[in-house]
Order: sequence, then C-alpha cells, then structure tokens
Amino acid sequence: MMRRTDPSQPVNTSMADYSQIKSQLEDQLRQRIERAEKIDSDLSTPGEQDWQERATELEDSEVLSSVGAMTVREIEQIKSALRQIEEGSYGVCIHCGQPIPTPRLEALPFATTCVRCQ
Ligand SMILES: [Zn+2]
Repeated sequence: MMRRTDPSQPVNTSMADYSQIKSQLEDQLRQRIERAEKIDSDLSTPGEQDWQERATELEDSEVLSSVGAMTVREIEQIKSALRQIEEGSYGVCIHCGQPIPTPRLEALPFATTCVRCQ
C-alpha cells in the first residue's frame, strides 16, 4: 500500500506513536459504554417475579451496581486519556511529570502515573 504524506500537515511522531493506543482506547470505551447500557437496562427492567425472585434480583442489582460504578469510572478515565491524546498531554505522569513508558501505556492505556508513582 502506498503511503501519501500531506505536506501541509507536519508529521508529529509522538502523535503517531499513540494512534494505536488511541484506537485501543476507543474500542475499550465502546465496550464499556455497551456494558454500562446493558447494566442500566438490566437494572431498570420491571419484573413480574414473586418475592423470592425479586430478592435474588435485588442481590444481583447490587453486584451490577458496583460493576456499573467501576465501568463508569473507567469510561471517565478512558475519556480523559483520549482528551489528553488530542491535547498532546497524554503519556505524562500526573505525579512526577515524567513521560510514562510506552509499554506501560500499551498495557494500561488509561494509566495516568508512571510505575514509580502508581
Ligand atoms: Zn511518576
């Protein structure tokens, strides 16, 4: 495949490095939004069960709620990582300001701290 470079767009190598991570983050964001929507519909489904089933459902919804809360938190982390990529501030440790090594970002794309500060 031929690669054509646009001369009006200077090649930013650091942005190019994160394009893989960015699509990874977008995938993860999509998955989590789908999961959150599923949890949401599971929680709001009106049931016609008897009390026994209703009790089981209540237990389930507690589990679902905590999964939901985690999912929402992750969605926020992914969104802010994507925003940082857009702004060019992605991949910098929020504690010490040092660049986070790319292998760590590939393993944990929404990491905001380096290994030392985690
Ligand atoms: Zn650090």
